[in-house]
Amino acid sequence: KVATRFAPSPTGALHIGGVRTALFNWLYSKNQKGTFHLRIEDTDIERSKDEYKFQIIKSLKWIGIEHDGDEYIQSKKINDHVNIVNELLKNNHAYKCYCSSEEIEEQKKRARQKKLPYIYNRKWRDLTEAVAPKNIKPVIRFKSKIDGTSILKDLVQGDVEIENSTIEDFIILRNDGTPTYNLSATVDDHQMSMTHIIRGDDHKINTFKQIQIYIAMKWDLPQFAHIPLIHTIEGKKLSKRDNASTLDDYSKIGIMPDALRNYLLRLGWSYEDKEIFTLEESIKYFNLKGIGKSPSKLDMSRILSMNEHYIKTIDENDLYQQLLKYCELFKHKIENTKREKIKSSLTFLKNKAKTLEDIHNNSKYIIFDEIDQNQEDFKLIDSNAKKIISDFSKEISAIKDLNRVTLEPVINNLIESYKTNFKGVGQPLRIALTGSKFGPGIYDIIISLGKDETQKRLNKIV
Ligand code: GLU
Repeated sequence: KVATRFAPSPTGALHIGGVRTALFNWLYSKNQKGTFHLRIEDTDIERSKDEYKFQIIKSLKWIGIEHDGDEYIQSKKINDHVNIVNELLKNNHAYKCYCSSEEIEEQKKRARQKKLPYIYNRKWRDLTEAVAPKNIKPVIRFKSKIDGTSILKDLVQGDVEIENSTIEDFIILRNDGTPTYNLSATVDDHQMSMTHIIRGDDHKINTFKQIQIYIAMKWDLPQFAHIPLIHTIEGKKLSKRDNASTLDDYSKIGIMPDALRNYLLRLGWSYEDKEIFTLEESIKYFNLKGIGKSPSKLDMSRILSMNEHYIKTIDENDLYQQLLKYCELFKHKIENTKREKIKSSLTFLKNKAKTLEDIHNNSKYIIFDEIDQNQEDFKLIDSNAKKIISDFSKEISAIKDLNRVTLEPVINNLIESYKTNFKGVGQPLRIALTGSKFGPGIYDIIISLGKDETQKRLNKIV
């Protein structure tokens, strides 16, 4: 049965690239009717923080990814990891290395001078402990293969071949007694019975190291899939410092989880020429074959158009609920009477909106009794415009039910008597009612405000 995992280190906020890795693992397991697990790799005690762990769990939940079972906390398994190190040592798959840090520095320096990547010179691989210096606490290194080549049958990249000599005798236990990532991750993946390891391209060399541990321990190998990294729009590697790279940054501006999930799914994965995937469709169609081999670019304009598509097409009540939640989280609570108005006006408030924040901005004239006046726009209300505003306000007093049919003649009459056009009447009214010349259509604004509020605002101006 397929089992996948996402294994973030809680040393920072979850990065958008990490979310995509989690998404692919989760979708693959769902597609295969398997399980998906979350492992918190918190062995770096100094840098790991609980707040990051909670942020990771919250982010995954926000975008709709739920893991099976409890979180697997790596730091609780250190004893198991150390036991495996000892077993590797006993079976001659590992050895103690007594190089001093000065010696290692020297090796690194020489590599730099020759412009070669540093690789440990395997000095202690064949030395006996009898010659070991007394004052140095050793690290434990894995005895990596030296001759020949190894081939990784990668489910995304195909066969990847490397010269074994390029893989160093990597450290599996530091001299403070703590195991390293390659050792811990391998032991955990084995103990968690993972069948598929889907992770970023940058782990390919680690995979060659980890496979050797599986073989030395005579454990079944999982299958590996390395997904290309995400680049910035300029083509640089995406780093934690890049703007808008955590989910919070997206939710803050009103990107909806379904839209972002759909975008991330299509970032480096494709299925025919389909763009929009419901959650059910994502699960149904996801496969590893569809993952591309080259890096994909994170493109904010595409995220926005995906979000716009969701704003246009999702059930309006659902949109309304998401909008309320968004406003409460990032803006302010909205009074009940205003909520009702927003709800009944959503069809036009969402018009052209790319984000929930845009809808909030379009709704400001409903939410706030005191409108936010754009000074430049207000200058457009000259004495003539004031007359139009005042006439309009008087004319609608007689109307019982404000709607398009009852309002249209009033506006048309004004256009005629002031020898102007629709904009000549509509613009001053819009500025007077909303504070800005941009925004929803004038009929929609008046109807959503209602007669009393409309007159109140207009009479303030004249
Ligand atoms: N903690 C590692 C990382 O965040 C996990 C990599 C892996 O999936 O094995 O890069």
